Amino acid sequence: MAWDFETEPDFQAQLDWADTFVRDEVEPLDLVWPHQQFVPLEGARRAAVDPLKQRVREHGLWATHLGPELGGQGYGQLKLALLNEILGRSSWAPIVFGCQAPDTGNAEIIAHYGTEAQKQQYLQPLLDGELFSCYSMTEPHAGADPTLFRTRAERDGDDWVLNGRKFFSSNARTASFLIVMAVTNPGVSPYQGMSMFLVPADTPGIQIERNIGLAGEPLNDGSHALIRYDNVRVPAEALLGGEGQAFVIAQTRLGGGRIHHAMRTIGLAQKAVDMMCERALSRETAGSRLSDKQFVQGYIADSYAQLKQFRLLVLHTAWEIDKYNDYKKVRKDIAAVKVVMPTVLHDIAWRAMQVHGALGTTNEMPFFTMIHGAGVMGLADGPTEVHKMTVAKQVLRNYRPSDDDWPTEWIPRRLDAARAKYAEYLDNKAGNL
Ligand SMILES: Cc1cc2nc3c(=O)[nH]c(=O)nc-3n(C[C@H](O)[C@H](O)[C@H](O)COP(=O)(O)OP(=O)(O)OC[C@H]3O[C@@H](n4cnc5c(N)ncnc54)[C@H](O)[C@@H]3O)c2cc1C
Repeated sequence: MAWDFETEPDFQAQLDWADTFVRDEVEPLDLVWPHQQFVPLEGARRAAVDPLKQRVREHGLWATHLGPELGGQGYGQLKLALLNEILGRSSWAPIVFGCQAPDTGNAEIIAHYGTEAQKQQYLQPLLDGELFSCYSMTEPHAGADPTLFRTRAERDGDDWVLNGRKFFSSNARTASFLIVMAVTNPGVSPYQGMSMFLVPADTPGIQIERNIGLAGEPLNDGSHALIRYDNVRVPAEALLGGEGQAFVIAQTRLGGGRIHHAMRTIGLAQKAVDMMCERALSRETAGSRLSDKQFVQGYIADSYAQLKQFRLLVLHTAWEIDKYNDYKKVRKDIAAVKVVMPTVLHDIAWRAMQVHGALGTTNEMPFFTMIHGAGVMGLADGPTEVHKMTVAKQVLRNYRPSDDDWPTEWIPRRLDAARAKYAEYLDNKAGNL
């Protein structure tokens, strides 16, 4: 009997430490330095944050997303999920624990596909938390369908020369390097004709046209860049993996990234449930507390059940990744997690906001940020619709059409077969359906 939902006592002790540490030491960073997680540490922020990172290292919880062969702690995805649930409460926590997106996914592909020299130059500083990176794939005219990308990389002697535009390249403004996806051979299918390049951010020809902000942020002051690559020249050694391997590499990257977002979303949604319950017990109206109203009880019950379902799906998928060590084998469930995630966060945050009345809608409570975050999750790393198609295609692989005009479960035929099977026990009246 191998099913087991227990956490090893030693790791549970680490989780307990992380939970207290995040609540007491890290969540306050979200309030004093909001939206500054991806600004290189200096001055007061470095003085405050470096000792926190050191405490995480001392507890063996730094950069837990990579296995030991790749330079990480080797806890695996299931343990990472349990930790990420805690980190999801705070925007700064992934930075303090050295496992923030998009750097985690970028580190993963450099670890898998990079040369020794690339690992030295990019992976080690990323793992040390000393620089940021950017994944530059989406283009202004195309996102969900990467076969439409136009950014070109052409060979010129020993160099590659990149030209094109990229949209929503998160953290480009503070990244030390960008991973750029470009067409290297327009003569073959895009699945074989695109490649990835590691491009230092100070390479001449990289022009950030606009830094796009998310809703609520000031115009031109966001962290998602519209970039023009104008004759950006990099040496042949800038190629990540083999020529034409971009799609294979992208799948490796996005598989991990999607499930890590989901793990953190559990923590964020749990925070909304916690706030909803506290408010329900604290507020009185029309002769009783909100927690005594059946509508509010419904919100709480629905939220609890929705989150529990989601959590089990995420943890099981993380367990599958550890078991198979192959994202392709877990593609269906990673896509299912991605499909469910925005709805779970949206629904729970919306109910929590409602229970808080007017206060819930203000910028003094975090619900609207959460709801907007749910919208973002329905797009970042691919739109929900596309992931639903992936789930459906993978599910359908296990089925075949019926052999004739009637479904296999058509009762008249099954009844005939059942009667024939048990004919010796049946009189003529038995089995009338
Ligand atoms: C906060 C955030 C951060 C991001 N960070 C990065 C980053 O760092 N690097 C990067 O390269 N990209 C990044 N992206 C971009 C993201 O990957 C794209 O937004 C996503 O792939 C969708 O592309 P699009 O926005 O061009 O939408 P489109 O491709 O134009 O799709 C728009 C809508 O059309 C519908 N649709 C699309 N395809 C289908 C289909 N096959 N069937 C049915 N309906 C469909 C869906 O409703 C979809 O939402 C980020 C996005 C967000 C929101």
